[in-house]
Amino acid sequence: MNFYSDYNDLAQRLSADSGIEITYKGTGKYLSFTPYIYNDCSASCRFCSEKLIRKGQVMVCEGICDGYEKMLEDALKYTGDRQIFLSLSGKEPSESPEHLELIAEAVKNAEEVGSNIKPRIMYSNLSGFVNNWDRLTKVIKDLNVTRIECSRHFYEEDVNQNIVQFKDGVAIRENAVFADVVQRLQKILPLKMVCVFQKGGVENAEHVKKYLDFARSMGITEVVFRELSVFSDGVDRGPVQQYITDSRIELMDILEGLSKEEFKIAGINKGYYYFSFEYNYKDMSVSFEMSDYEEMIKKHTGSDLHKLIFYPNGKLCRDWNMQGEISNWR
Ligand code: SF4
Repeated sequence: MNFYSDYNDLAQRLSADSGIEITYKGTGKYLSFTPYIYNDCSASCRFCSEKLIRKGQVMVCEGICDGYEKMLEDALKYTGDRQIFLSLSGKEPSESPEHLELIAEAVKNAEEVGSNIKPRIMYSNLSGFVNNWDRLTKVIKDLNVTRIECSRHFYEEDVNQNIVQFKDGVAIRENAVFADVVQRLQKILPLKMVCVFQKGGVENAEHVKKYLDFARSMGITEVVFRELSVFSDGVDRGPVQQYITDSRIELMDILEGLSKEEFKIAGINKGYYYFSFEYNYKDMSVSFEMSDYEEMIKKHTGSDLHKLIFYPNGKLCRDWNMQGEISNWR
């Protein structure tokens, strides 16, 4: 298994070979802020990091607390003059339009008194758009969402379903329904597709090209491929931890297998716990990313503030799974 430090070495080598400088992301300027969206989710992905256990703690929320909207507004103001990278994520955002509406209101109010909230990214499997199109498209316009990063982990629906395990009756599991939603949404805002490498899914450079053709056939020109996160002791043993450990496909192996004629490196980004390697392929921008939970936990428990997560129960935390709670922040 390769960790953050191994990818640091790779980044240095690629930079030396290509002459492309490494860009440092997420330090100083931006503060990532997640108003955590909690629901039952429309899927049950085998690798779902929301189901990982840390120090015996599993993510469970009781629902949205009284006074949530005002508390979120105050939490946004807590960031001071740092620019907020707003991450609309947690469980499946498109299944919680009412929660998104509260967030839209809080964001608007915080912005009116000076908060700088940009970009605003939604991470979604798009399931809710099938039945709730009008309400969701209204709220993404009200929220001025910069783009949606939509997850789909294979180009054949049955293989995707085996990984994602959409619940009974969730129509987005069908590729025809997914393509229809993707094409309609692209008329409203930019979309990026997200695929996680794993055994039984996208496993090699040939699959990468087929996936890119699938995305391009729906008009998508931006795709990000992610390696399953690496960790050692930071995560407790359990079924999801075991799946991730057993199913990991090494990003380095994929990068090695890419045709140098077809994939041209265009950028190397170093985040505080992740690396992202950007390539041009035909008329598409393709990113390949790895993230290291051990590095993330180390940074989240250090002196600098990298991330804030505001949970529906009103807790403001600097680390995931409701850890690193900030007291007396109001
Ligand atoms: S869609 Fe996201 S939150 Fe839902 S199960 Fe999959 S990874 Fe987890």
